Amino acid sequence: MAMFADLEPRAPDAILGLMERFRADVRPDKVSLASGVYVDESGTTPVLDTVREADARILAGQTTKVYKPIGGDPAYNGPVRDLVFGADHPAVTSGRVETMHTPGGTGALRVAGDLVSVINPTASIWLSTPTWPNHPQVFGAAGLPIRAYPYLGADGELDIDTLLGVLKGVPAGDVVLLHTCCHNPTGIDPTAEQWERIADTITEAGALPLLDFAYQGFADGLSEDARGLRALLARGITMFVASSFSKNFALYDERVGALSIVGADADETATLLSHAKATIRSNYSNPPAHGGEIVATVLADPALTEQWVGEVTTMRDRINGNRARFVEGLRAAGAPGSHEALLRQRGMFSLLPLGEDRVARLRDEFGVYVVGKGRVNVAGLTAHNLEPVCRAIATVTA
Ligand code: PLP
Repeated sequence: MAMFADLEPRAPDAILGLMERFRADVRPDKVSLASGVYVDESGTTPVLDTVREADARILAGQTTKVYKPIGGDPAYNGPVRDLVFGADHPAVTSGRVETMHTPGGTGALRVAGDLVSVINPTASIWLSTPTWPNHPQVFGAAGLPIRAYPYLGADGELDIDTLLGVLKGVPAGDVVLLHTCCHNPTGIDPTAEQWERIADTITEAGALPLLDFAYQGFADGLSEDARGLRALLARGITMFVASSFSKNFALYDERVGALSIVGADADETATLLSHAKATIRSNYSNPPAHGGEIVATVLADPALTEQWVGEVTTMRDRINGNRARFVEGLRAAGAPGSHEALLRQRGMFSLLPLGEDRVARLRDEFGVYVVGKGRVNVAGLTAHNLEPVCRAIATVTA
């Protein structure tokens, strides 16, 4: 008898499992609004021109494949820190920020979770309801108890007062995960004024913010999208930032991201960094080289950097343009309700008020794939599929 004959198989990952189902669907007019990947008007995710150029330079100049340092290459970490925090920010110039290359944003979140479980074994982590479904899995695997804070009110907008009321009661030392921009799955971000109130409440509670910055540049701009991060930085408190270059560099399969540690002062940062490195060493030992070298090559060359900023702008403008086209399309198809909120939301995702039954009808009757109770990736809308998608939504919501 097999050793693990009694082991129950696990359900497939909610989002990746749905993508497998989409691939197996033979209907020629099927539409995926389910993936977490940016697609262009042709429905594909091309390699950025700057990435191709950096790749060619790396290949031509490569002399070795030796290990990277545990926290990654300084040639990557410095420019990434400057991109995320701003090179002139006092937190950076005073040595409060140390940035480490991690395998993707997920790797950064997991290192942060493992680090917390070592430095504060009684800490829980607070996640917004709803949040990215992998958040509870990552932090659960790191051994952190999961707590929830509310995010949306009955009107589908950010309920800031209820949110702050709960954050006020977070025990000192607990971790609060915040989506820095492009909240996944709702697309609803706090305003600048709301970020100030969130930063005050977290500081008063003595909580440890962990900022998930997976979509820098996809909301309003590379610097604009860091407004919440800067509000917290200004409080002088300890915090962690998990960045990803999967989306804004389209480097999904290279697994390139960063964990930044911000101490209250440079000494605390150095101590936390030493623990983070010990955590990494016992996990994946050191990060994969190639994706980090691509990002470092682009950020080291001002002309390539400018070109990349243009590429990010193109992706962002298309996403925001799609939001306007989506609202128009839903109106034209006669879908009930006001869809104006979609225009205020940011990033690839919005949470349509559909529910599981309508999501199932969209998939089964119309071949339109959306996640969970109604998360859509608006980047997946094209001139070709917009009308049928809007008609399908109008039909199931009639
Ligand atoms: N955080 C959020 C909110 C995300 O949506 C994602 C990816 O979809 C990540 C983190 C992780 O990104 P990466 O692919 O770099 O691990």
